[in-house]
Amino acid sequence: MPDRLRVCALYPDLMNIYADRGNLLLLRRRCEWRGIGFELLRSDLGEPLDPDAADLFYVGGGQDRDQRLCAFDLAEVKRAGLHAAAERGAAMLAVCGGYQLLGHSYELGDETLPGAGLVDLRTVRSDGPRLIGNVAIEVDLGPEAGGRRVLAGFENHGGRTRLGPDAQPLGRVLRGHGNDGESGFEGVRRGNVLGTYLHGPLLPKNVWLADWLIARALGRAEPLAPLDDTLEASAHAEARRAAGV
Ligand code: GLN
Repeated sequence: MPDRLRVCALYPDLMNIYADRGNLLLLRRRCEWRGIGFELLRSDLGEPLDPDAADLFYVGGGQDRDQRLCAFDLAEVKRAGLHAAAERGAAMLAVCGGYQLLGHSYELGDETLPGAGLVDLRTVRSDGPRLIGNVAIEVDLGPEAGGRRVLAGFENHGGRTRLGPDAQPLGRVLRGHGNDGESGFEGVRRGNVLGTYLHGPLLPKNVWLADWLIARALGRAEPLAPLDDTLEASAHAEARRAAGV
């Protein structure tokens, strides 16, 4: 059983809106506090992805401009590696702009950006208002994650994401807009691959999700050692209060 988590951040400079990269710091700390090694790798534009080089792949949010660069790279350079990683059960977390790019396409007016095609969803940039605010969703990642739980965070996106028939949502919207402001769905889940509009500090505010990702990425059946989460629990409570849940 590996005692080291290898995390690969995709485009950490371009896709890092709202300091989404902070999620990586949280993963590092929670591993190190438990004596689990942590290695951070990165994959930038033009670099193919080695599906076996990491246990967890991460991509943060981005502006449309930066997403454009990454979309073609994801679809052309990294697509095969990303699919192979998902097939072998690697964990993935994609936030907002990164989440949009996991799907088939992101339509911006006359232009359609390709996606990685890893999950069955499409995103269309709307002329309507941006979907902004505190958000809480109800998620059930199974008994090992404690059954039904609340993820609380913040969203800010112009894109509306619609899930296709083969996609499962990550959760149901309790407060906020979620994928499109209408469906009541938020995010996507395909096995160990998660996509969500909830920004950093997503994991610091929802440490149970961080632990679920770590356990899945390491293929651990037994629960991770508990930590003193007093501070994290109050951040979670505050995020829920802000969302009104
Ligand atoms: N540019 C995308 C949108 O506005 C994603 C934004 C983000 O990552 N916050 O929909």
